[in-house]
Amino acid sequence: MNAIAARLDAVRERIRQAETRFGREPGSVALLAISKRHPPEALREALAAGQHAFGENYLQEALDKREALAGYPVEWHFVGPLQSNKTKPAAECFDWIHTLDRPKIARRLSEQRPEDRPPLNCCIQVNVSGEASKSGVTPADVEALAETVAALPGLRLRGLMTLPAPAAGLEAQRQPLRALRECLEALNARGYGLDTLSMGMSDDLEAAVAEGATIVRIGTAVFGPRPPG
Ligand SMILES: *Cc1c(COP(=O)(O)O)cnc(C)c1O
Repeated sequence: MNAIAARLDAVRERIRQAETRFGREPGSVALLAISKRHPPEALREALAAGQHAFGENYLQEALDKREALAGYPVEWHFVGPLQSNKTKPAAECFDWIHTLDRPKIARRLSEQRPEDRPPLNCCIQVNVSGEASKSGVTPADVEALAETVAALPGLRLRGLMTLPAPAAGLEAQRQPLRALRECLEALNARGYGLDTLSMGMSDDLEAAVAEGATIVRIGTAVFGPRPPG
């Protein structure tokens, strides 16, 4: 077994154990492998070990990898910052965008989504830990953006995403993730019908599963340390 296959097994086991420990339905947490800065060969190893969903942060790097892996059954997720002058390739090439935080970008993605493809799955990025992170809307502004996104024909609003400030210890890690879950519950109480909480990375996977994550975004624990960028 190669190193990536072995790490994937270990991450799947962590998810399974966290599901059991926190009373989550077995199989209710999906693994998104964050492959930024790793070469196409690393993704091929992961694919051979049964991992098909990959998340990328940098648009050009993602487009190059997509070309290198043409013909492989990959579900492509974008988890990086999106610039409004680069929405067209994003709308054409990805299955999911996790980092929507502006109505202007949402409108452009919707207009530029090719008609022969299903609506682009989207999560709104929420800044739940205050000034520590600059991306994302505040919890108070989530609903306004959700209303905009839900009305766009080229997009399918699936849920919320966050990238909290690093914290040590399960309880401290759970706090911002709980805030994201509460945002989702508030939207669903107003009829949005969202099914996705994208949260949890290599160091806070367990906290995320405890707070209801449906997609965990794991880089280092799957691929090892990232090569310098
Ligand atoms: C890099 C990254 C991850 C994965 O982080 P690890 O700590 O390596 O697991 C998850 N989400 C986003 C948005 C990232 O940029």
